[in-house]
Amino acid sequence: MRNELHPRLRDLADLRDGRLTGTRTSAVKEHVGAGCDVCATASARFESAVAAIAEGPLPAPPRSVVRQAVHMFRAKKWAWLLEAPGRIVASLVLDQRMELVPALRSSVGAERRMLWMVGDHELAACVVLRGGHAEIVGQILPAEDDGSSQVVGEIEAMRNGRSVAKIPLDADGGFALRGLSYGTYALLGRVDGAEFVVAPLEIGDRA
Ligand SMILES: [Zn+2]
Repeated sequence: MRNELHPRLRDLADLRDGRLTGTRTSAVKEHVGAGCDVCATASARFESAVAAIAEGPLPAPPRSVVRQAVHMFRAKKWAWLLEAPGRIVASLVLDQRMELVPALRSSVGAERRMLWMVGDHELAACVVLRGGHAEIVGQILPAEDDGSSQVVGEIEAMRNGRSVAKIPLDADGGFALRGLSYGTYALLGRVDGAEFVVAPLEIGDRA
């Protein structure tokens, strides 16, 4: 499972900063050195983020964006997801959708890469479109993983309030939810004893 995935964003950032150490170092260098477009895009984002930070405090987000974010969490349709006490709501760190919209509309195998923080774990996932269906392939790992973590948990995709797929995480924290119709999904799960939920995710051929 791990070998199917790109390096974690944390590893790309550490590579950029010259701080990548440990067992994954050579594999990450080899992958990036081979000229992976997805990782090159992610690395370019680090450079622009570093440049933006160097310029000083960030401007406030546009009010329309704030309203949209608030609305998303208030939307009654999904309120039940957020009501369970003790459940961690994953926070989205990166979503490549905006860069990939044209590709997602047309090409088979185009992928959208996302990263969330789930408490002290990272959830990295790619959405891949194949033949009119989508796959969500990803991995949940402790943020401070040294490459040897054993992860225990499960992940479930829900659509319109119904479970459409529920699978255990493999020992590396990997998972693959396959054969998903286009639509809006919530991901729920449990990792190392903590329950989490990922805010609704729209997948597919958006007009
Ligand atoms: Zn890559």
